[in-house]
Amino acid sequence: MFSPRRKRVAFRIGEDGVLEVLSPRGVPPGILAKILDLNAEAIAGLRRRAERIRSRRKAAERAYCEGETFFLMGEPVVLTLSPGRRNYCRGVLSVPPGDPDAVKAELILLYKELAHKVLPQIFQEEVRRTGCKPASLKINSAAARWGSCSRKGNVNLSWRLLQFPEAHIRHVICHELAHLAVFDHSPRFHARLEELCPGSREFRAEMLRFARTLPRL
Ligand SMILES: [Zn+2]
Repeated sequence: MFSPRRKRVAFRIGEDGVLEVLSPRGVPPGILAKILDLNAEAIAGLRRRAERIRSRRKAAERAYCEGETFFLMGEPVVLTLSPGRRNYCRGVLSVPPGDPDAVKAELILLYKELAHKVLPQIFQEEVRRTGCKPASLKINSAAARWGSCSRKGNVNLSWRLLQFPEAHIRHVICHELAHLAVFDHSPRFHARLEELCPGSREFRAEMLRFARTLPRL
């Protein structure tokens, strides 16, 4: 790929795993080959990274069929398709059979029902333990953030949080409760969060690692 405005040669690995070379116009092929040679190690690193991302994506994909694994409070649970009302019992998520979209929709409804039962309980425990005074709690479907807190003290938690271990759920709740005292993410906020939830930075790093292993729902 040649670009008139480009000033230096750059590399990237495309979606299909093919190396793309972005070059300023007029760089002779011999020089390009030399540059590729000199950057062989960096390019190999890019390839490895692209491969890791691809395999992670593949592992996260679900067909929504019998026997697939999902996560509930950090534990693997198995999807079963059986007629009747959706329910969860002893490591089995059971929803009525159907095409993948229908099964996915039922599974999400089941997660939401469970989230409405479990998350408010844990939330209330943390409220009592910390003495914080939030205005309200709502369960939403946010995909990009596990929780949020408005300036008025209304806390939202995503039902997707229910996939994480209980310690992670408590950490997210503490994060939102810490916002009742400090609205931004300043050092003062982190000091407050650390009071409510010691080891909060490590929890966050753990959550991000765990999130990468979760199926896409
Ligand atoms: Zn925050």
